[in-house]
Amino acid sequence: MNEYDSNRIFDLVKSINYFPTKNVEEADCYVLNTCHIREKATDKVYHEIGRVKKKFRDKKKPITIIAGCVAQAEGEILLKKEKYIDAVIGPQSYHEINNILITTEEGKNKLNSTEFEVIEKFDKLNLIKNFNSKISSFLTIQEGCDKFCKFCVVPYTRGPEYSRPFNQILEEANQLVENGSKEITLLGQNVNAYLNENKKLADLIFELDKIKNLERIRYTTSHPNDVTPYLIEAHQQCKKLMPVLHLPVQSGSDKILEKMNRNHTILQYLNIIKKFKEKKPSIKFTSDFIIAYPGETEKEFNETIELMKKVKFINSYSFIFSARPGTPASKMKTVNEKIAKERLLIFQNLSNQIKNNYRNSLSGTTAKVLFENKIKNEKNKYFGRDEYFNSVVVSCNENLVGKIENIKINKCNQNTLFGEKIIKFNKKEVAAA
Ligand code: SAM
Ligand code: SF4
Repeated sequence: MNEYDSNRIFDLVKSINYFPTKNVEEADCYVLNTCHIREKATDKVYHEIGRVKKKFRDKKKPITIIAGCVAQAEGEILLKKEKYIDAVIGPQSYHEINNILITTEEGKNKLNSTEFEVIEKFDKLNLIKNFNSKISSFLTIQEGCDKFCKFCVVPYTRGPEYSRPFNQILEEANQLVENGSKEITLLGQNVNAYLNENKKLADLIFELDKIKNLERIRYTTSHPNDVTPYLIEAHQQCKKLMPVLHLPVQSGSDKILEKMNRNHTILQYLNIIKKFKEKKPSIKFTSDFIIAYPGETEKEFNETIELMKKVKFINSYSFIFSARPGTPASKMKTVNEKIAKERLLIFQNLSNQIKNNYRNSLSGTTAKVLFENKIKNEKNKYFGRDEYFNSVVVSCNENLVGKIENIKINKCNQNTLFGEKIIKFNKKEVAAA
């Protein structure tokens, strides 16, 4: 979501003659867009400001703005502690960036813009074209969260759940496709809770499926409790909707899920997976896990291991529980650090083994890959993703960017599949060959 927000910040500042630069040292303004989901986020801000200070020691100081969720949660402290920062902008008020830049240029007071103005933000953004021209683009459709899982800062930093108007989203999707996007990933903290005037996420997917020149649709991140039969039907019927779903479960233990306030059981989670598979047998799943949640016993940790073995997620993100200021879980007694680290290692070894087995099984198969870019400083190497979001690298003399090709997978490493383009001969060519 921060990547989407950063792109929209670029779209906004164009009208007051600020443009993105790859050369940090020549920047007039420096925006650090931050995430607060796990610890050390604030330390990273101070560290990064230190680097900027060093770079600009003998030059005019750039206007320095901290955006995103760290700004929302700790903006006032940042402004007090680090004089180099000129302004802080929360994720629901970055549409104010031009006013902030102008005020700061004029040398006026330091600004703290952290109101939750989400409707105003999207109304304003809607007037500004999305100039993103990436082959695979993000599109935020929903923000914020009302679920209040006990460990999570999102309800406090992104604010209450809000779904953008249906037509506003379709308009932006069409702009992205006109600019060359072939794939759109719909974004939201609870993307499948999307609801605007009775329109649901599945309605959006059915509409996007009709857009000519749009080849692929994805969405993230979903909550198990917001999966509906209609959404499962969209997976069955919409050809452009990719057959992989990121469905965070956090833990394999009912007791821990209850302590987290996730409001579902493992049996219910497994039933959702079963229903998806009945309608779309080729579907696969990825997930998020929190290891060593406060109070997690050895038995409860082993239930998470069992779940991993049962579902065989093709990819997963796992982190040790991180106490976030202001959340109920931050006041709970944590698991001993050594035990927590051991559990994470055991879990990640297992999830990597499952991921590697899956990837190795792809050797010799054919994957449909959408190519996103040529790899920098590499001769004729292209990067793309298959339908399951696996990274694929291919050497080819032809420019593959923006194309979907059938790729024979030859080998893989931990993160990437390597393959070659399958060249089709018609009957005459084969005979001549
Ligand atoms: N809304 C999604 C859901 O409920 O599944 C998750 C969105 S959250 C922004 C992304 C992931 O960050 C979560 O799935 C969780 O695994 C992780 N996360 C959030 N708070 C955390 C914490 N305090 N400690 C460790 N991981 C955390
Ligand atoms: Fe955070 Fe997701 Fe829970 Fe909302 S549903 S509080 S975003 S983990």
